[in-house]
Amino acid sequence: MTYVDDVLKELERKNPYEPEFIQTATEILRCLNVVFERHPEFQEAKILERFLEPERVVMFRVPWVDDNGEVQVNRGFRVQFNSALGPYKGGLRFHESVNLSVLKLLGLEQILKNSLTGMSIGGAKGGSDFNPKGRSDAEVMRFCQSFMTELKNYIGPDIDVPAGDIGVGLREVGYMFGQYNRIANRHNCVLTGSGIEYGGSLVRKEATGYGLIYILEEALRARGEVLEGKKIIISGSGNVAIYAAEKAIQLGATVIAMSDSKGYIYDENGISIPFVKHIKEEERKCIHEYLNDFPDTIYKEGSEGLWSIKCDIALPCATQNELDEESARKLIDNGVKYVAEGANKPSTPGATKLFLKSGLMFLPGKAANAGGVTTSVLEMAQRSSNMHWSFDEVDLRLKRNMVNIYRNIDKMAKEYGFEGNYVVGANIAGFLKVAKAMMAQGI
Ligand code: GLU
Repeated sequence: MTYVDDVLKELERKNPYEPEFIQTATEILRCLNVVFERHPEFQEAKILERFLEPERVVMFRVPWVDDNGEVQVNRGFRVQFNSALGPYKGGLRFHESVNLSVLKLLGLEQILKNSLTGMSIGGAKGGSDFNPKGRSDAEVMRFCQSFMTELKNYIGPDIDVPAGDIGVGLREVGYMFGQYNRIANRHNCVLTGSGIEYGGSLVRKEATGYGLIYILEEALRARGEVLEGKKIIISGSGNVAIYAAEKAIQLGATVIAMSDSKGYIYDENGISIPFVKHIKEEERKCIHEYLNDFPDTIYKEGSEGLWSIKCDIALPCATQNELDEESARKLIDNGVKYVAEGANKPSTPGATKLFLKSGLMFLPGKAANAGGVTTSVLEMAQRSSNMHWSFDEVDLRLKRNMVNIYRNIDKMAKEYGFEGNYVVGANIAGFLKVAKAMMAQGI
């Protein structure tokens, strides 16, 4: 039994009702065995046991009144996981699948992701089992106000700075910010992803999707390849998917398929992204309600079949565990060469294993989707210095950061004898910085 095995056994005993968290912790820890061989001092300081226990978890009641005058009660969370590198940072997710286990999974990923950005931010995640989809603006506003009324007690510019995630976009951040400002009487940077009019940063909306394409572009460049002419499949049609598609097309690729929660569209000649953007951002509707506007496009219900489409690059950008072993097998059989995760943990452990075994290039989410949180920190920097950078300036910094992340995980994979395995590279690079900071700060 190694140190990692011992810790995992204890983790399972302590958290019997958290399968998602255990799954992710297991995947990460398996990559870290080699680190403990080189750093016995980490084991002595019980670094892993400390790393896997959130510093603080807040769970609270979110009561609100719906449009029929009925009282609704949701559950709110903030998992403040690790602040060794800086104030807690990470998104808020509003979706019915949100529970403590999922948020701990995402929080753990966030610690490592934030470490990879090279910026001074700790890791956190939060949210609620409330889903804004299908709710009126007024209902979303009342929910957000109630949520922030409690969350305000635990956040602050030097404490914890949440942002958006699934179900939390510009509208929700706006309502939450308004409530914070009203009840705390402070107009400071407590949330990123804010509107441009009240302290937000240009490029924040596009950042995760653009960043995904920038890191992919760098990985391709290192292999003497370019994006131009490549065929891409993207799952999801939220912020990440839409702006990944937009940037990929700008760089000469063709996006041949995209999905939403109801189904997917497929067009060998390329999908009209501005129109998908309009449906999602302005109409807040599903693609199938607008099929007449996609004349030569095939539409299929559900997500089965999406990963059977032949492509060069697959970008899972919807949600965790959306791409299973069977889908991975189909992609590999159809000759996919590159997979980069825009969502957080979209590939199941089995799918990830298959990708790595097949020798294709696989970029895990904690590195590939770090553009969002990177730009959040750029937003914080602009807020605290009262400056407003141009689109190009933010975009350039984002791009530079994604290139650095690629080089760092590539170097770390090589250094530990796992050349080309970016899952190992990202976990080791992310973890080492946090572990060293924890060691330096004592028990
Ligand atoms: N929710 C995003 C993520 O998963 C962004 C977090 C942030 O900007 O704080 O990284």
